[in-house]
Order: sequence, then structure tokens, then C-alpha cells
Amino acid sequence: MNIDKPTLDRISKLHPSVRGEVTELINDINTDILTGAAKVRISEGYRSFDEQNAIYAKGRTKPGPIATKAKGGQSIHNYGMAFDIVLVINGKDISWDTKKDWDNDKKSDWMEVVEYLKKHGWSWGGDWTSFKDMPHFDKKGYTNWRELIKYPKDKNGYIILK
Ligand SMILES: [Zn+2]
Repeated sequence: MNIDKPTLDRISKLHPSVRGEVTELINDINTDILTGAAKVRISEGYRSFDEQNAIYAKGRTKPGPIATKAKGGQSIHNYGMAFDIVLVINGKDISWDTKKDWDNDKKSDWMEVVEYLKKHGWSWGGDWTSFKDMPHFDKKGYTNWRELIKYPKDKNGYIILK
């Protein structure tokens, strides 16, 4: 399988309904789409409400720059229905370069990943109109936290889908 350990760990904490498909998508991208030095890694997946609130506090009640506009429950990450990507170059260096073409197919590697995920059921934060979140993807159909916050949850804290 063409998926690194950090990515597998993060997939294992996504909402149970998307783990299989995300595993397949990342494996397919790293096998067939990105054929050069760059591979995709999931850098962020599920975040609990408490973890989200801790990030929200930065730059407000805690030191540091503001890192998010979402409180606990207001991010799709809080439901395990979102993930962020980075590129890993030669298995070690991390890159957020959205332009570079490491596999020499005249398309930026970042945008190849975006195109593939959008085609396979995920919406991209780079398409947002106000603040663009280039590494971010939400599961289509689950992009509105105001809806997700109403769902009942199972014993592990994941929302129970209708
Ligand atoms: Zn994100």
C-alpha cells in the first residue's frame, strides 16, 4: 500500500463511513496520479470539540496568532468528515507548494490531488469564496456544521448517519 504511517493513523480516526474510501483514494493518488518525488499525506483529520476549542483560544484568550475561526463543533474536522493534505517530497520534506510539478506531467501535483479528490466525492477548501483553505477537503453532503451538530452520536463520539 502506498500510504505512509501518519496518514494511516489519521484515516483510522476519521468517521467510520469514510475510512475505506479515503484509504483507497490516497493509495490511488500515490500510485497512479503522483508518479514523481511528491506523495500526498493527510496532515490533519479528526479533531475533538475540546481540541478545536484549544486551537480557537490561540490569539484570543491564549498567546499566539489566530489559527481558526471555528469553535468546537463548527469545523467539519470535529465530525471526522474532513481532512487536510500536505505533500511529502522524497519521503522526508513537507511542502505546501500548490504550483510545483514534481512528476513532470505539466500539471501541478497539488492540483492533481485536488482534481482527483473533487471528482471522487470531496469538496475543496480552495473553492471557498471568502477564506481559501488550500489543504482542506470536506466529504460532499457533510459540509455544513450547523446540520452535523444536530446528529446523534455513537459511543465513540461519531455522528450516526441517517
Ligand atoms: Zn482542514
